[in-house]
Amino acid sequence: MIFKELKTWHRHRIQCLVNAGVDVLAFETIPAQMETEALVSLLKEFPQTKAWLSFSCQSMDKTAHGEDVGEASKVCAEASNPSQLIAIGVNCCSPEFAVSLLNNIHSALPHYPLIVYPNSGELWDTHTGWKGEKVNPNRVYLNEWVAANAKIIGGCCRTSPEDIADVYEFVQAKKKD
Ligand SMILES: [Zn+2]
Repeated sequence: MIFKELKTWHRHRIQCLVNAGVDVLAFETIPAQMETEALVSLLKEFPQTKAWLSFSCQSMDKTAHGEDVGEASKVCAEASNPSQLIAIGVNCCSPEFAVSLLNNIHSALPHYPLIVYPNSGELWDTHTGWKGEKVNPNRVYLNEWVAANAKIIGGCCRTSPEDIADVYEFVQAKKKD
């Protein structure tokens, strides 16, 4: 029942975006496997539309809802049309968790293009707001993400245009290697 409700809830939003001519749908910050399965199932109703799928995660290996991120990704990849689902990955997580999460997905789906766009490294506290230190996705992180088959790299909460410019510079330098 919840599965059907999730599809109904997302269908109207997807329809609006598709009608507006969106290039790619970002199914992002999705906390639970069931919701991603609903989205992947819904995507088949829009066969001309492409999307990426990105889980929000709060640990090194699990979705925010607590499923193994590799297994959850595999279920979604197998349930989807590969020409429609262009990447699977994680966002809205600590950058420190990203490589472990990506490696987990890469093990489950060795040939699938992955996407990663973590938060800045600061932590959200529901009472006091953002706190802690920002971590720039330095070259160690970026190298690890690329090595784990990340094909799309960006930033989520509290990242800035400067952070994205750093990623761009890294990727350009990498192309020349
Ligand atoms: Zn975020």
